Amino acid sequence: MSQYSGLAGAGGNAAFCDLRSDTVTRPDAGMLQAMQAAELGDDVYGEDPQVNRLEAVLTERLGKEAALFLPTGTMSNLVGLLAHCQRGEEIIVGDGYHVYAYEAAGASVLGGIALCPVPVRADGALDPVTIAGAVKEDDSHLAVSRLLSLENTHNGLVVPLADMNAAADAARAAGLAVHLDGARFFNAATALGCAEAELAGLVDTVSICLSKGLGAPAGSALVGPADLIAKARRWRKMLGGGMRQSGVLAAAALYALEHNVERLAEDHGRAAELADVVRGLGAGQVSQATNMVFFTPENGRNDDLRAHLAAQGVVIGGGSSGAIRMVLHKDVDDGALGRAVQGLRSFYG
Ligand SMILES: *Cc1c(COP(=O)(O)O)cnc(C)c1O
Repeated sequence: MSQYSGLAGAGGNAAFCDLRSDTVTRPDAGMLQAMQAAELGDDVYGEDPQVNRLEAVLTERLGKEAALFLPTGTMSNLVGLLAHCQRGEEIIVGDGYHVYAYEAAGASVLGGIALCPVPVRADGALDPVTIAGAVKEDDSHLAVSRLLSLENTHNGLVVPLADMNAAADAARAAGLAVHLDGARFFNAATALGCAEAELAGLVDTVSICLSKGLGAPAGSALVGPADLIAKARRWRKMLGGGMRQSGVLAAAALYALEHNVERLAEDHGRAAELADVVRGLGAGQVSQATNMVFFTPENGRNDDLRAHLAAQGVVIGGGSSGAIRMVLHKDVDDGALGRAVQGLRSFYG
C-alpha cells in the first residue's frame, strides 16, 4: 500500500494533490454508478455486453476492424507484439520507449522475439533514416525484421502526424508492419487536434490505456486488423488475461470514453500553467508537453523539495536526482493545482 494512500480522497480534492502519475486517478461517482448498473456476462465466452460494446466503440472510433479488451497496457502491447511476430523475428523500437525499456523484455521472454533498440530523438520521434538503417537484410545470419513499434505520447511529448508517417513509411518500405504504443493515445489526438481515426490510421495496431488520464480503474485495449486481433485473443487467454465478468471494468472504460476524453485539454492547460510557475521561480530546467511537466532543480534539492511539498499534501514523481515529474490529471482541479503552486513558491520564495 502506498504511504500516501491514507491521505487521498476520491476525485478532485484540494487538500491533496498527487502529481506522480495519471494512473492514480480514481473512479468518480458517475463512473462507479455506471459500473454498478452494468449488465454482465462471461467475456471468455464472448458474452459480456459491456466488453463487446467497448470493443465495438473503440473499433469504430479508431477506424479499425477489431478490438480486444485487456487488463493492462503491458499485456496489450505484449499480445500485439506476439500477434505480429514469430520466434526469430525482430521489432525495431525506440530505446526509451516503454515496450523496450519497461516491459521486462516480455516479447523476448515469451515469444523468442528480438528487440532492436534505436535512439529516440529529443522530440520523442524516431528518425526514418535510422529505422531504414536498422532493418536487417535477408541473410541467414540475421534476425528477420518484422515490426516497427512507435510510441505517442512519449514522456508527454506529442509526435506530429508527419513524423509518425515518415517513420511508418520507412518501415513499410522494408515490408515491416507498424504498432503504436498509445498508452496516452487520447492525449496525443487531443494535442494534435486530429481525429482519433486519423492518428490510428497511420499504423496497423494501436494499444491504448483506459486507466491513465481517462480515469478508469484498470484496463487497456488493442485495436487493429481482425486477423491480428484474433491471434492476440488467443495470446490473451494463454497469458491468463481472460477476465470473465470484466464488463464491470469495461463499463468504467465506456464511461471514461464518453466523459473524460474532451476534458484532457484541461490537464494540458494546467500542465502549461504549472510549467510557467516553475519557470518563473527560475529554479532549474523545465520542460512541459501535454499533461506532463519535468523539472530538474539546479542544486539537486530533489529530496528537500519532495519533503517540503509532501508536508503540504503535494506528491511529486521522479528520484533523488535528475528530473522531477509532475503529471496533471482529472483528480487535480484548480484547487489542488493551487496547493502545488503554493508549495513550490514557499520552497523557492
Ligand atoms: C503506462 C504505459 C504502458 C503500460 O501500461 P500498464 O497498464 O501500466 O501496464 C505502456 N506504455 C506507455 C507509454 C505507458 O505510459
